[in-house]
Amino acid sequence: MARQEKAGQAQVCPLAKKCGGCDYQGIAYEEQLKKKEQTVKKLMKGMGEILPIIGAEDPYCYRNKVHAVFSRRRNGEIVSGIYQEGTHKVVPVETCQIEDQKADAIIGTIRGLLKSFKIKVYDEDTDYGLLRHVLIRTGAKTGQIMVVLVTRSPIFPSKNNFVKALRAVHPEISTVVLNVNERKTSMVLGARNITLYGKGYIEDELCGCRFRISPTSFYQINPAQTEKLYKTAMMLARLNKRNVVVDAYCGIGTIGMVAAKTVKEVIGVELNGEAVRDAKVNAHLNNMNNIRFVEGDAGVFLEGMADREETVDVVFMDPPRSGSSEAFLQSLLVIRPKKIVYISCEPQTQARDLQALKKDYKIEAIQPVDMFPMTEKIETVVLLTRKE
Ligand code: SAH
Repeated sequence: MARQEKAGQAQVCPLAKKCGGCDYQGIAYEEQLKKKEQTVKKLMKGMGEILPIIGAEDPYCYRNKVHAVFSRRRNGEIVSGIYQEGTHKVVPVETCQIEDQKADAIIGTIRGLLKSFKIKVYDEDTDYGLLRHVLIRTGAKTGQIMVVLVTRSPIFPSKNNFVKALRAVHPEISTVVLNVNERKTSMVLGARNITLYGKGYIEDELCGCRFRISPTSFYQINPAQTEKLYKTAMMLARLNKRNVVVDAYCGIGTIGMVAAKTVKEVIGVELNGEAVRDAKVNAHLNNMNNIRFVEGDAGVFLEGMADREETVDVVFMDPPRSGSSEAFLQSLLVIRPKKIVYISCEPQTQARDLQALKKDYKIEAIQPVDMFPMTEKIETVVLLTRKE
């Protein structure tokens, strides 16, 4: 069991109440897992067999993506951390139980450098100042680190010296990207990326495949558990060399590429253009020529397949928290793949979507996987097979 629980009890983070990011603070990890199982049982009772949750070996410091918002106190002190739940007040954070520790250290260094470089922190009320957020992404297997400085303007004074000073303290940083967010918005990232140092992306490995990750592309935040999640999905799908597979909501193509090793053909579909570009590069990186990617809405894509009377054997779907669309689900019922593997980070919307599929599909297994220890968030993989 992880270090903080050696004494038999979970250590409570002093910021827990203000931050609100970890709903399960102070609850022993085994207990957290039980609670999640209960939640899934409540939501999906009677729908199919619910397998015991797959827990994490180390429930701490798992987040490979760390975000800090920057702000200035009335006395001039620069702070960075998270918004207090439900407000726009910044709670200063120096270390966090679930974040990558190196990322926290880099954010601390940036806080210190701002003063010496006379860089103003952005103020939401006045729309004045430069630095809004810092985002750090790390590749757990490769050790590569990306620092994204989110700014109000593309002009960052002494940017080369700033990067030099940052790298002098953290030579492990692989790339530094300026992300320009000029809008008055609560969205963290803007549309434009300017590479200040390195390649502008990092790489990581999962299930023996290598992946390029750009600043705005989706990538699962708990790499150790992601491997278990994907392996579970593959095991449930029982793929073979004759299978044609769709990877819907595919992000940078991770699930599709893991599947591509054992099937005839994979088609990935994804809305975010930057993620699709990453996915195409990733296919080359892994020498795969039986996978292709389509940029667009997964529902619209599936409707097209249904109209053209195309068939596939297996559909993997991994939609965002809001779940899938009516167009997607109805088209699935027309295409009638033999199996559907539905991965979800929001069992509530998943349960809703499963209701729509239930008339033609049997829910064979519901497998919860703990991707987000210390929080009440739940990930589930559900296998559906077509009723003949
Ligand atoms: N399967 C991937 C990504 C899952 S996250 C992985 O495991 O890493 C969900 C993804 O769905 C995101 O990449 C998001 O950009 C994408 N997305 C959101 N709405 C979409 C839509 N309507 N059509 C296609 N993709 C969508």
